[in-house]
Amino acid sequence: MAKFRVSWSNRWLRLALVTAIVAFAFAGARLLALGLLFAGLAVWAVKRWRAGKRLLAYGLAAALVVGVGLYGFAAFEVWSMRAWRAGHFDDMVLLAADGTYEGEGRGKRGPVRVEVTVRDHRVEEFDVVEFYDTIPIAEGAFEELREGLVGRSDADVDAVTGATRTSYGTINAVREAVWRGVAEAPRLSVLSKITLWFASVKVQKVTFHSLAVLFIVVLLFDYTIQAALVEGTGQTLNCMDCQTCVGACPVKRVDGWLFPMEMVLRARLGDYETVARLMEYCVGCAKCAAKCPAGISAPSVAAAVAHYLRKQKREEEAEFFESRV
Ligand code: SF4
Ligand code: SF4
Repeated sequence: MAKFRVSWSNRWLRLALVTAIVAFAFAGARLLALGLLFAGLAVWAVKRWRAGKRLLAYGLAAALVVGVGLYGFAAFEVWSMRAWRAGHFDDMVLLAADGTYEGEGRGKRGPVRVEVTVRDHRVEEFDVVEFYDTIPIAEGAFEELREGLVGRSDADVDAVTGATRTSYGTINAVREAVWRGVAEAPRLSVLSKITLWFASVKVQKVTFHSLAVLFIVVLLFDYTIQAALVEGTGQTLNCMDCQTCVGACPVKRVDGWLFPMEMVLRARLGDYETVARLMEYCVGCAKCAAKCPAGISAPSVAAAVAHYLRKQKREEEAEFFESRV
């Protein structure tokens, strides 16, 4: 059974690092990163349980429960805060200190950010500084909403027909902006603020853009990092699944897997434990190396495995694979 070790050649560690960097850089991907983290914890806990590591499995399950609990608590606070703002808008305008405040709501295609100026217990001005909805429809809605908001101490405005989601997003943004000016208004707990910062709940929508970024980063950068870190892995990136090596190899299949192609693909994924197991079936004839159009050979894969085992301080096994290079 493969052991989890803290090493840069451990693929899970690299994936976690890359996901954390992407989540930090792209707010839209944070919710997805959180989902991946929860899913990873669940899978890991089940694997440890099956491996008989009950204590570790309990620890992972507890981390999962705490994570889901924190997120659920924060989501509930956001929901109740929004409901509170909706029911207390008149009071908030009357209590808000004079000033200009920013607020954000969720439009049809993305966030709507507004600036609201409150003076003498009235909404004096309201500007939309950022929005992603269809321009003529959204601007028409903003104009109607402005008429219902400016100069008033209540926001008893209805959503504009044909721009319902834009309207609600804008109204929520206005409510949030005014709420910032009321010192006595309830606030989110620090715990929720931290959770929401990481999860970016305000964004709420994982865009295809952020999904694509995450996919590219994980696939390309991770392979590249691995190729740079583990000697012999770089070549495996060039494998095009042509199966020529399978045709040349006298072994051809191990456990139903095409051999040695599956071994090359496993090395590309950083699954060196499986590669090491498969490598034991190689008879060292080098026929694969002679035929592979990408210049990949079982010996180059053996070098990658040996490098990995050295990092794991498994000297004896490393020496065995070095002798195959
Ligand atoms: S012959 Fe080379 S490129 Fe083709 S599947 Fe085998 S390792 Fe990959
Ligand atoms: S060197 Fe190993 S993997 Fe390559 S053809 Fe010979 S037995 Fe198959």
